[in-house]
Amino acid sequence: MQLIDSHCHLNLGDFDKDLDRVLTNARNAGVVRIVVPGTNLETSAKAVSLASKYPEVFAAVGVHPHDADKVDVNVLNELKGMAKNSRKVVAIGEIGLDYFRNLSSPQNQRKIFDALLETAIEIRKPVILHNRNADNDFFEMLASKRGRGLTGVVHCFSGSPVFAEKVLDLGLCISFAGNITYPKAVELRESAAYVPIEQLLLETDAPYLSPEPKRTDRNEPANVKYLVKLYAEIHKLSEDDIARITTHNANKLFALGLNDEMALAYPIRDSLYLNITNECSNNCTFCARNASDYVKGHNLKLDHDPSAEELMKAMGDISMYSEVVFCGFGEPTCKLELLKTIAAYVKKQNKKVRLNTNGQGSHINGRNIVDELKGLVDAASISLNAPNAALYNEICRPASGRAYEGMLEFAKLCIASGIKVELTCLDNIGEDNVAACKAIAEKLGAGFRLRHFNRVG
Ligand code: SF4
Repeated sequence: MQLIDSHCHLNLGDFDKDLDRVLTNARNAGVVRIVVPGTNLETSAKAVSLASKYPEVFAAVGVHPHDADKVDVNVLNELKGMAKNSRKVVAIGEIGLDYFRNLSSPQNQRKIFDALLETAIEIRKPVILHNRNADNDFFEMLASKRGRGLTGVVHCFSGSPVFAEKVLDLGLCISFAGNITYPKAVELRESAAYVPIEQLLLETDAPYLSPEPKRTDRNEPANVKYLVKLYAEIHKLSEDDIARITTHNANKLFALGLNDEMALAYPIRDSLYLNITNECSNNCTFCARNASDYVKGHNLKLDHDPSAEELMKAMGDISMYSEVVFCGFGEPTCKLELLKTIAAYVKKQNKKVRLNTNGQGSHINGRNIVDELKGLVDAASISLNAPNAALYNEICRPASGRAYEGMLEFAKLCIASGIKVELTCLDNIGEDNVAACKAIAEKLGAGFRLRHFNRVG
């Protein structure tokens, strides 16, 4: 398990005496990257110095709103110079607004915040954001930069799910500190449940806000593991899923240099998914591959079509999985022979096989393929997507005509062959269309599942 602590103040005096031991603890807990933010010129310089000494440490430079009164244009220029000149400065932060303690005047806070947002946009680095009791100004200032390539994370998020939605709509990530584990932090956990896993980062905010069960101790990066456990419960994923996805998110946001190899076989929860091709007979408007190469932290962009041997090697020992699912960034039946070979290999090991498909396999292969799948595929999840051919053609953009009819025929034949069938559609096609899709599934004797638009895996 690889973890990233995206916000930890190793540059504060609290860690001066035992920093090496703290970093050893972090490594032993699987923490492979730590981002250390600066809060003023001095702590920014120290973050850069730590980053140059320790390979896993990366720096951000910035001015905390508490320090805004003490900053002039020379300081801002020095920070910009640090950010431009060091490969290991990966962000501008910690910057933002804090009207709770108002240790600097709100006017100066806004002035410095705006100047550093502009710096981040100019030098194309993400921002690490602080907001306390300043929701309106904070949001307005960020919204004013919309469309200019600003990326970043709101750290130690303390707002409601409604405010989380506003921040997420700006394309920003969110991270919560250890206080999310406290018994009374019910609203924070509600906000965390609202954050799509693709926009969630891990952080400790050490030395502050130690999570349960370390609440009385000084916080340190190794404690990020306690958040993994909590998010696994909240998002109903495994701890491995949370670690992989949040590590991918932070690595991507801050360009932390971890490799994301293409995934032929990829676990999510207790299922093993197979990505056997990127070819497809549809070109759906909503296809996840149009938005990103990644699903749940797995890189599904293939640079070649894999062989059966490569797939078996990537699958490894499948004994711990409840099922093997043909899915990936393409239509598995485009590679029918490969699908059959691998399915037979899985069945030999007494594991269940599920096929996630657009249902056009017979159409694609020019013959009825259902008989060939009998005994190899236990269940098929077929994308119905629309209650009629006209809407299907509009949103799925199939390569050839009668794709919709072919998909329904495939579903009927699967059911007749004893393959358990579930028809699916997305929740963005309107209530009436969803109801009509459900009725089609019922009439065929298939199960039905409504999938959330923009949530895959
Ligand atoms: S059928 Fe699936 S893989 Fe193919 S374009 Fe549509 S969503 Fe993408």
